[in-house]
Amino acid sequence: MTARPALLSDDTLELRGLLAELGRRYHAAGWLMGTSGNLSARLPAPDGGPGDRALVTASGRHKGRLGTSDFVIVDLDGNLVAAGPDARPSAETRLHLAVYRRVPEAGVALHVHTVASTLLAPDMDGVDGAIGHARFADIEMIKGLDLWHPEDAAALPLFANHAHVPDIAADVERYYAVPREVPAFVIRGHGITAWGSDPFTADRHLEVTEFLCRVALARR
Ligand SMILES: [Zn+2]
Repeated sequence: MTARPALLSDDTLELRGLLAELGRRYHAAGWLMGTSGNLSARLPAPDGGPGDRALVTASGRHKGRLGTSDFVIVDLDGNLVAAGPDARPSAETRLHLAVYRRVPEAGVALHVHTVASTLLAPDMDGVDGAIGHARFADIEMIKGLDLWHPEDAAALPLFANHAHVPDIAADVERYYAVPREVPAFVIRGHGITAWGSDPFTADRHLEVTEFLCRVALARR
């Protein structure tokens, strides 16, 4: 018999409030419809470095009405550590863990289902688990992904949307086994995952990625 997970402790309360606030905003924008998507933060280790646990929104919750108890804490292998009342981890928790396992600077990861990213198609070959890339050059907004040089282009990777989420996570881990420039990816026919060191940076990377997906859609 598995032991019941611990309840969420107050040291994550502020972070849960911040993620719930992002959930309300993205739901209002139409990015988290029908309980879709999930938002997470990697909890720091006692020394302040990247820790081995993540706080993630619980399965099946309406993202426009997220409360601070609608969260779970899992370790980076997906084992449940703590949870709000009746809160269960979503299958998509694996996507967040894939990012934290491979990208040490990711402190917050945001996964949303937007119309433009659902329709994004690759225009460059893929490598290492990615089925392709969508390339963006000569677009001012790529500076928002920290690409500052005029010759820079953003190559946004696309992954196949396997029905079994751990298979998507495995592709993601394979691709990010080496450092990559763009702090976001798209799962084809599905949505965006973007990250940053903190909620503000992750939110910026998500908004810019969604903007690029809309540019690609407008060009088709
Ligand atoms: Zn999803």
